[in-house]
Amino acid sequence: MAEEETSQNVQLPISGSCHCGAVTYEMKVQPRFAVECNCTICRSLGTVWGHGSSEEISVTAAPGATLSYSRGDKELAFHTCKTCGSSTHWEGIEGDSVGRMAVNLRLAIPGAVEAIGHRHFDGADTWKFLD
Ligand SMILES: [Zn+2]
Repeated sequence: MAEEETSQNVQLPISGSCHCGAVTYEMKVQPRFAVECNCTICRSLGTVWGHGSSEEISVTAAPGATLSYSRGDKELAFHTCKTCGSSTHWEGIEGDSVGRMAVNLRLAIPGAVEAIGHRHFDGADTWKFLD
């Protein structure tokens, strides 16, 4: 739990942008953790997620600026910038996931992940934090 204890307050809103700037986000509330997950999709995307609700997170992008990818039960849509390829966010689109979102904190200012508290989540197996 050492990493959790080092969590600091970061300046709000937390804003981020894909590499080319076509997709930006703002997060009004600091997420509890910066979560790196080892499930198949998160490993493929290389993301560190900041989770929140759709009221706490706003994403700005032109219509059609992102590629949306869903897998398995199709509860989540993972968005990637069509221009630069950055993974920007996911949103819940089915079932209990509707209203839930997460943004890729790798696209926020340098140091944001560490300030929030970088934690590793075992989404591949136990669904528990590994630290
Ligand atoms: Zn982009």
